[in-house]
Amino acid sequence: MHKKRILVVLGLLGLGFTAVTLRLLQLQVVCGEAYEAAARENRVQIRIIPPLRGRILDRAGRVLAEDRPRWTVTLNLGQMLSPAALAHALAQGTGRDPLSLQPTLGRGWGRTRALEFRAVREQTLGKTLDRVAEITGASRERMETRLRSIERKILEEESRERVRVLGLALSRDTAFRRVLRRDLRAREKRLNEWMRAELSDDEYLLMGGFRWELLDRASETRKAWMRELAPRVGKKARELLKKLSEVERATTRHALRAVARRDHAILEAFFPYRTVLALELAMEELPGVSVEARPVRIYPRGVCACHVLGSVGYLGWIRRGGEDVNLYEERERQGWYFERVSSFLDREEYQALESRGEFLSDLFGKTGLEKDLDVPLRGGRGARVVECDRRRRVQKNLAVTPPRHGRTFAITLDAELQEAAQRAFRPDHCAALAKGEGLRGAAVVLELPSGAVRVLLSVPGYDPNDLVPPVRPEKARALFTDPGRPMLNRALAGCYEPGSTFKTVTALAARSEGLSDGNTRIFCEGALRAHDYTFRCNARYGHGTLGLKGALEQSCNVYFYRLGDLLGHRLGVWAETFGFGAPTGIDLPGERGGSLPYGVLPGFWIQLAIGQNMTATVLQVARLAACVACDGRLPVPFLLSSRGPGPVLELPREALAEVREGFRRVVHGGRGTARLALLRKLNAAGKTGTAETGRKRNGVFLNHAWFAGYAPHDAPRFAVAVVVEDVPSGVHGGDIAAPIAAEILKACLATGEGR
Ligand SMILES: [Zn+2]
Repeated sequence: MHKKRILVVLGLLGLGFTAVTLRLLQLQVVCGEAYEAAARENRVQIRIIPPLRGRILDRAGRVLAEDRPRWTVTLNLGQMLSPAALAHALAQGTGRDPLSLQPTLGRGWGRTRALEFRAVREQTLGKTLDRVAEITGASRERMETRLRSIERKILEEESRERVRVLGLALSRDTAFRRVLRRDLRAREKRLNEWMRAELSDDEYLLMGGFRWELLDRASETRKAWMRELAPRVGKKARELLKKLSEVERATTRHALRAVARRDHAILEAFFPYRTVLALELAMEELPGVSVEARPVRIYPRGVCACHVLGSVGYLGWIRRGGEDVNLYEERERQGWYFERVSSFLDREEYQALESRGEFLSDLFGKTGLEKDLDVPLRGGRGARVVECDRRRRVQKNLAVTPPRHGRTFAITLDAELQEAAQRAFRPDHCAALAKGEGLRGAAVVLELPSGAVRVLLSVPGYDPNDLVPPVRPEKARALFTDPGRPMLNRALAGCYEPGSTFKTVTALAARSEGLSDGNTRIFCEGALRAHDYTFRCNARYGHGTLGLKGALEQSCNVYFYRLGDLLGHRLGVWAETFGFGAPTGIDLPGERGGSLPYGVLPGFWIQLAIGQNMTATVLQVARLAACVACDGRLPVPFLLSSRGPGPVLELPREALAEVREGFRRVVHGGRGTARLALLRKLNAAGKTGTAETGRKRNGVFLNHAWFAGYAPHDAPRFAVAVVVEDVPSGVHGGDIAAPIAAEILKACLATGEGR
């Protein structure tokens, strides 16, 4: 017996780490001839061993997502009260011979010895709970409360069952249900009063656990209940009462058996293995107790990389043919099965499940990498084949097929850089924002020249642990109704006007088309009048005469307006060449491509030249910065594996060099829009942007603030793009996005990796 228990533990630990000493037989063999006889008598039962979902690691092997076994302690009252166990306990209490008691008890749930029987049961239960509490350190009260609530639930079920049997079809009547519940509470209260009055303290304690069995003895309440019910259904109360007691005898027996047969989970926790072992070793004194594990998804770094990792959940709502369908409910109707930790399946049930491939209780990847890598992450179920007696008590382990655990994936993301970026995203970089609420926005860091994604941040985020079933409804509601939309991955799916960061494309397009050259100078007087419209520069009185480098440094609009006017629709073609208007193809679901419309009015291209009339994602803008840093190579960003170096755009080398010098001046120049000490110290280069949204908050216009760049300037290792949403007009990219980018780049350069 003892040895068997230990083997069971080893089987359980098969959830992960074990060298199982049992014979490992294929289920086909087990379900085949060798156990045919036992199987015919339905004594072979199968318990599923769920696999551990694969881990997701960052580039340095830090765990971002993993499964840990959560242990469930279950109690089976039927097993706890086996005739032998009862006779033993009763004999100790009464001094009688256990062998003489056993045959009487063996007949089952007789009424003759009811009080003795209940007393022993309560004693055994008490002792068992005490011992479990002692070993696990869990609260005995909580276990007991849980057991009582299960009992109460079964009583309610039973009452509903009676109503159904009575043929009153009232189970759906909520008003009647209320009556029923009120009645239950009233009966329970009455019973308590009766028990206190009639029973000694000892008896009261012993009987305490059996309130629900005794509730129906309070016959007065039943009469009142029937009197209330009778006029509602047009029958006589006496008639109802008679019929009720007929079905009652049957259903009470039924309910008792149901309670006894089922395993009731009294405790769930992440125990250390030594606790589980201690429990298993004490099983001799714990009749009816068993321990099983179910894997639970854990995200040990919480909010870190939440949008990349995504979430898991049960089958849920999908959209099919324009209609919302609840897959879970649909499959439940089709007879799909919610396999519980403690479910015993017979061979037919098991085979039916296996043929479906999935269980209702399976977790599916719903978003992010969890969705993309769902199948390889999931692995395959194992099973434990056991021989049971008539009461489904395990007699023998016949075989164990260990589960096939899901694959582990290492991604390019760097958890520490990701967290550094998260910390950098705060308003106190800019005095005008410091007193406001938290920032919203996104940041992406690409390693150069590979395009490996080191940081993919969207702010605000959420704790993915909150979305692992069972999800607390208030947490879910809070997440889905948060006006900051923390579930949105702004880095991939947030589409913003790129503003002045897009001037890079305009400059390179004009040079490639031969519309400007190294000697081109443009005079800015604060605005451009063209096509009967005035297009304003950011400096009201103008920037004077500027070349490309100076125009980038000071972000002069007029310079780029002119180039845009010359380029016309060709600018749209070039924007496409730089990858705008289409997803980058990163290996993560949910990416959007931004919009790149084709304007018919001449002024349209003038505005596009400074990044208006279109939208882009932060990932696209980071890739644009990478392209400038890498001599025109447009990398394909990736999180799992590289899909090639990406195309090299045909751009004049000297034009690229001039843009890079312009980027350098943005940071280092006397009039640069991102003259930050930290960016200078890092020898960074880049371009700021401030895109008007046209929206207002508290009467103030709102802008999106941008910075896109790379570092170090002379041998770039990282490209970065940062957007901060909805900053009040007057706050520019250089005020908030650039300092955030600087902190992120500082952390990146400190890693000593890259080119
Ligand atoms: Zn200007």
